[in-house]
Amino acid sequence: MFGNEQDTFVFVASQGCGKHCDFCYWSGFALGMLPVEDTIEILVRIQNRLGVRQFHLAELDIAASLGRLRKFARLWRERLPGCHWFGLASPVDLARLDPADWDLLAEGGCRKLEIGTESGSQRILTKIGKQHHKDDPIGIIKNALARGIQTMHNFVFGIPGETWADRRASLNLIRRLRNLDSDWTLFTFRFFQPTPGTRLGDEALSYHQDPPAGLKAFLASRQEFGAECARSMP
Ligand code: SF4
Repeated sequence: MFGNEQDTFVFVASQGCGKHCDFCYWSGFALGMLPVEDTIEILVRIQNRLGVRQFHLAELDIAASLGRLRKFARLWRERLPGCHWFGLASPVDLARLDPADWDLLAEGGCRKLEIGTESGSQRILTKIGKQHHKDDPIGIIKNALARGIQTMHNFVFGIPGETWADRRASLNLIRRLRNLDSDWTLFTFRFFQPTPGTRLGDEALSYHQDPPAGLKAFLASRQEFGAECARSMP
């Protein structure tokens, strides 16, 4: 995650996610977070015991509460100087940060953010239940870059109903983000996978004549769609 070959401790201080996007496996898991004071206390103990100076905070919605995030950064600055963290956040939350918040994040150990940018098409963002504007990641990345915070943008392709125009809009946004700093801006690309019980997962499965009814049937059907030219949806 940090690309510097130094030891990293993976730590989880929350579970679930508060965003409930219509395509995501995690949409059905309510968000719960450890109190900030407890989290920092545990991290300080880990730091003292193991000497590790960077932490991968393996959470899905680290900026869900801006008050909590500010408090976290303030306590980190005070108790864990010289240590850094990586976390995953939603653009809708990061777009609410003002310059003083960004300064605090940088001083409070934030070194890298993974961001659920997902698409450059406003139509697709609305369809998958994302609450940010398609251009929000541009402002976010400018604020992050100005403070030495690296960003990694998740993109998903293959959402039911996606068109070439949607794909082009995503490629266009990827190009704009990359042009801001091609070394310091990273991307991860994923294909949509239908999760039963989510609105878009059920829509995708409804295209299938005979959707798998159980785990064994599902695993057997994976081969059917494994070939490069195979399509499971129109
Ligand atoms: S896509 Fe990201 S923000 Fe949306 S529910 Fe899943 S983990 Fe949360």
